[in-house]
Amino acid sequence: MPIDLDHILERAQEAFLFFKNVQPKEKSAFIRQIAKQIDAIRTELIPVASKESNLPEGRITGELGRTLGQIGLFANLVEEGSWVEATIDLPDPSRQPAPKPDVRRMITPLGPVAVFGASNFPLAFSTAGGDTLSALAAGCPVIYKAHPAHPETSKLVAGAIKKAIEVSALPEGIFQHVEGGIEMGQNLVNHPLLRAVAFTGSHQGGKSLFDLANKREHPIPVYAEMGSVNPVFTFPQKLGKNLEALAKSFVGSLTMGVGQFCTNPGLIFVHKDQEKEFSDAVKAELEDIAAAPMLHEGIAQSYYDSLQYLQTRNELDWVKVAKPKHLINGSAALAKIKIKDWLKDDHFQKEVFGAFALMVVYHNNDELLEVAHKLQGQLTCTIWAEDDELKDQLFLINLLEEKCGRLLFKGVPTGVEVGYAMQHGGPYPSTTDSRGTSVGAYAIKRFARPIAFQDMPESLLPDALRDDNPLGIWRLVDGKYTQ
Ligand code: NAP
Repeated sequence: MPIDLDHILERAQEAFLFFKNVQPKEKSAFIRQIAKQIDAIRTELIPVASKESNLPEGRITGELGRTLGQIGLFANLVEEGSWVEATIDLPDPSRQPAPKPDVRRMITPLGPVAVFGASNFPLAFSTAGGDTLSALAAGCPVIYKAHPAHPETSKLVAGAIKKAIEVSALPEGIFQHVEGGIEMGQNLVNHPLLRAVAFTGSHQGGKSLFDLANKREHPIPVYAEMGSVNPVFTFPQKLGKNLEALAKSFVGSLTMGVGQFCTNPGLIFVHKDQEKEFSDAVKAELEDIAAAPMLHEGIAQSYYDSLQYLQTRNELDWVKVAKPKHLINGSAALAKIKIKDWLKDDHFQKEVFGAFALMVVYHNNDELLEVAHKLQGQLTCTIWAEDDELKDQLFLINLLEEKCGRLLFKGVPTGVEVGYAMQHGGPYPSTTDSRGTSVGAYAIKRFARPIAFQDMPESLLPDALRDDNPLGIWRLVDGKYTQ
């Protein structure tokens, strides 16, 4: 049966007019109910998600824990309530030459949101992932476009969300699950009742949905997270002191989940004096990593196509070549390149989705500054340096701040913490809107817009803006934070 998007969007819009006024306690109880219903199907869900994604059950179990924790974060955020940015400028009728009006501002949900989930996180970035939950937490109904790589997983999770809606006695139109290909996705983005889009996946997919949304008669925001190469900048003292351990942690991050993470470190800068020692150590670590199945054949194919192209480039010196036994298996690979060659061609900044990294050999700091100028937008940048070395890198740090959403000084970029302060999003092309994050509490802000009420009678004001602050939230009143 063809999908009736008009009906779906009309249902979502009708649900929105009710849902946006649901009280924070009730909304957070609904969000907790989603976690409860998903947890209740875990024994059925884990093997299905593992089978569909080729990811081991242990990894899926961990991802489920992360997904439930993420849902809990949004429930807490909504219950606490201050996320609405309530701001009040009190009136002054005696002000000269004109009386000062009463102006009260807050943020309010946008309306129906379309979510396109990712293949590489069948739970945490999919049906009940961060995009869906942050939109629901904001008060926006969600139309979720199932990812064709894990359809049964998606249906199971959608069933749990629907059960939570039923238990919470909320309108069904708050969450709708749709399946279909590119054309259906495009029609969804073009629908006049849609108010925003969240996407995680390929650059091609994210950019084309962004372009489509901007060509609408009524353009809408598209928050597309499209991955990046996540450069790691290493400095001689730091690497010299910890070479083996850092090689091990780099390889652990590069090969985790067969390299299928948007924060996977695909680019590492190493000083020429440490080139051989570090690449030998990385190679030794890589030899111990067995090839493992990638998410689906299409992803494996595009990984090997990218490597095949890179193997035609004379500038690259291969430290380890990928050797798949079966095409679905992702085998890790590492190549070296001189910094002068890397700087000449932006193709070397292109993400290879899988466990491949390019090691760029540099000679001096000026070259790294040139890199930082040329670097495209990234989700993360990592600096491995001793404190003494960092003192000389303030200009590099200043430049890298302009190029990424998260700057790390320790550890590896994979394993994104879910919390209040996390930023997962960066300048284009890593995302289409660097002002948003798709992980952490601030993800909610993408689905709300400001509204100011001027001289609105007290009895009509939303609770967040009333004089007696019945929600007990933090508010900016005449320029001072109060509760
Ligand atoms: P994808 O191909 O971008 O697909 C993601 C979702 O968007 C799917 O539901 C897909 O629908 C839909 N879609 C893609 N292009 C579209 C378009 N032009 N119009 C409407 N809908 C569109 O991502 P993927 O399948 O997850 O993986 C493919 C590649 O994406 C990987 O090889 C990798 O390079 C990259 N990737 C990046 C990340 C990241 O974290 N940024 C995560 C996973 C993958 P259909 O499949 O039904 O067409």
